[in-house]
Amino acid sequence: MDQNGFFGNWGGAYIPEILHQTFVELKEEYTRCRKDPAFWQEYLTLMSTYSCRPTPLTYAENLTHHFGGAKIYIKREDLNHTGAHKANNVMGQGLLVKRMGKKRVIAETGAGQHGMATATMAAKFGLDCTIYMGEEDVLRQRPNVFWMEKMGATVVTVKDGSRTLKDAINEAFRDWVTNVDNTHYVFGTACGPAPFPEMVAWFQSIIGIEAAKQIIQYHGKMPARVYACVGGGSNAMGIFKRFLDESDVELIGVEAGGHGADSHAHAIRLSSPDATPGVAQGYKTMFLQDEDGQMKHTHSVAAGLDYVGVSPILSDLWDKKLVRFESATDTEVMQALDLTMKQEGIIPALESSHAFAGAFKEVGKLAKDDAIIINQSGRGDKDIFTIAHAFDDPSWKKFIIDRGKEYSNS
Ligand SMILES: *Cc1c(COP(=O)(O)O)cnc(C)c1O
Repeated sequence: MDQNGFFGNWGGAYIPEILHQTFVELKEEYTRCRKDPAFWQEYLTLMSTYSCRPTPLTYAENLTHHFGGAKIYIKREDLNHTGAHKANNVMGQGLLVKRMGKKRVIAETGAGQHGMATATMAAKFGLDCTIYMGEEDVLRQRPNVFWMEKMGATVVTVKDGSRTLKDAINEAFRDWVTNVDNTHYVFGTACGPAPFPEMVAWFQSIIGIEAAKQIIQYHGKMPARVYACVGGGSNAMGIFKRFLDESDVELIGVEAGGHGADSHAHAIRLSSPDATPGVAQGYKTMFLQDEDGQMKHTHSVAAGLDYVGVSPILSDLWDKKLVRFESATDTEVMQALDLTMKQEGIIPALESSHAFAGAFKEVGKLAKDDAIIINQSGRGDKDIFTIAHAFDDPSWKKFIIDRGKEYSNS
């Protein structure tokens, strides 16, 4: 990152004047923390006692035999507290908030996972917490809303625009501008104005640091390829960062192909020609937008991947051809999920299943003495409604209908 927050052509900090001082303070505190080994140690201790770090690297023996190519290893971010890599980011920012002495946090959430993670952090650190969520998403993700409220967070339903993630982000910024003195905005991914992209990627870099050690221990050398799904880009940057200097390791980001690259119903920013450079939500990156800069409607079976922008760090790595970007369609993702459950007894989140689908297309062609790592960003339990619906499971349907009847009769 240069001093203006840019990664090559991408990033920056396009913020209203009123937030200027807060960004100066945030950048100073973050810079101090990065230079202070005691801060990272405190972070590691917190993550090993409150979450599940270090997370295991699992050798997927059955999948490896199934494809007959390189050995498949899975980095198990699903075993974190609240079931995804998001804990790494929110707990790190929580420690930062404590240092800054702020008493209130706000966050945006799409699928609800980042809201959940932020609500746990706020409860643990005794902070006031308000979560902004689009009305569409509140309706689709009731279980997450339920838990956030139970942990003491206020969930605000956003009724503007398309009533999804980008509208929730806009609303959270509005709150921040009003309450900047006592409030920190816990941004959920490696996007937004500097220093958020770099800061979030730093907290997430623990994934790759652990994975590199583990693969050397189990496999004796670096992997040939590392795969991660790309929504905003935080889990991808988290596992990629450590491997960027390893010239023999190829890094592959898998985006949400939705109904297909030609369908316009997808969230492919970097591996399709549909996205164009733009500035929105405080930073410059590749956005899915029309000629007037209006954000397009995106689609993915995975709620956590259907964001219109992408990390400016990834746009830069894409520019420099240091990361290869591919996409997987909803159908390919469901097949990859199905196979992983049957072969390994592991249930990846629909988001993570994109990384599996991307890897499965290629792994059979790689040499048997090579290895690949798939970053399993989260667990799929949260997706039971979507997965059961997609598999068209008749007894699940009956269960839902019966529960509905029970409620309407009571
Ligand atoms: C939120 C989420 C993602 C997408 O976010 P990134 O910032 O791209 O990592 C991916 N996987 C899971 C399980 C998530 O919850």
